[in-house]
Amino acid sequence: MTISGRHFLQIPGPSNVPDSVLHAISMPTIDHRGPAFKELFSHVLTGMADVFGTSNQVVIYPATGTGAWEAALVNTLNPGDEILCFETGHFSSLWKTMAEKWGLKPTVIAGDWRTGADPQKIGEALAADTDHRFKAVCVVHNETSTGVTSRIPEIRAAIDAADHPALFMVDTISSLGSVDYRHDEWGVDVTVSGSQKGLMLPPGLSFNAVSDKALEAHETSTLPKSVWNWTEMLAAGRNGMTPYTPNTNILYGLKESLRLLNEEGLDNVFARHIRFGEATRAAVEAWGLEVLCTNESEYSPVLTAVVMPEGHDADELRKIILDRFDMSLGAGLSKLQGTVFRIGHLGDLNDLTLAGTLAGVQMGLQLAGVKVDPAGLGAALDILRES
Ligand code: PLP
Repeated sequence: MTISGRHFLQIPGPSNVPDSVLHAISMPTIDHRGPAFKELFSHVLTGMADVFGTSNQVVIYPATGTGAWEAALVNTLNPGDEILCFETGHFSSLWKTMAEKWGLKPTVIAGDWRTGADPQKIGEALAADTDHRFKAVCVVHNETSTGVTSRIPEIRAAIDAADHPALFMVDTISSLGSVDYRHDEWGVDVTVSGSQKGLMLPPGLSFNAVSDKALEAHETSTLPKSVWNWTEMLAAGRNGMTPYTPNTNILYGLKESLRLLNEEGLDNVFARHIRFGEATRAAVEAWGLEVLCTNESEYSPVLTAVVMPEGHDADELRKIILDRFDMSLGAGLSKLQGTVFRIGHLGDLNDLTLAGTLAGVQMGLQLAGVKVDPAGLGAALDILRES
């Protein structure tokens, strides 16, 4: 069946790419050793430093977020180093697995996949580590598998209270450009991010923001590194260049998406996402369903994971919604498969996009035979109308 109108891409990233960004990307590729590229790359490096909230030069990789995770580890650590991770969900677990593949030794503080990284538990683990065996603390800011954000400044305060020298590494792959984030002010050493979520770009770019302390660790770090090597990336970047061929056209898109973010104003962008989260949760609660995140201070402004009631399969619901309404929702990942679906409300969307999304979810739930109060959609509209 041909479906008219635009597909609703309401997964928690990759997010919808604005038309002006798509147009920017479609321009002819230029010489990446020429003056026009130099100007472009210098421009986006500065723009990205502003979005991260750092005065240091950032690193831009032609890779997805996973590459920037690897870059964070191999640029700062040594073989066999111990690191402290907090299990917030699927993505924090993948980061830990990657560390193991690199011969690092992660200690994981277990979590319930419904709350964020607990600053107190991190503080206790660090205080007990009197020999300073942990060389890094790795946390996911917005756990995309659960719709839970972690309180980064409080975790920094816990590291400081324990007087522990570990590097603080934060994954902002699904939060940067959607949720308030301040690399320098919050004392983060390496921030990892990607292009395909809040930055409203296709997948294919990823980033490291780096503190002076991370750069010092880099000087002596002996894990092997080639493609990810900060020394080469930063030296080339200072001249508006890259050590190898960049993905020029996505960088055109980045210039445009930075323009869009700045035109709206980052604070307004963050407020818009908070509002979308509130409206979505109002619908979920009025439907009589449960939001996965159990801690109000950790609700994600980027996505809402919804617990499927007993006896119903979340993947079946997503299939109905895709087939009938041409809308993609996020699946439950790993141990949440089938029991949770995720509504993405990030990037290039407005009140009516969200209203349409929630209307599709409500109709899908009804078609799937889930008993929901149809007042759910109205509860979301009340918030969108009044706030
Ligand atoms: N970390 C988080 C929080 C993510 O949401 C994702 C992807 O969705 C990743 C890491 C992995 O990034 P990528 O798929 O871009 O390699």
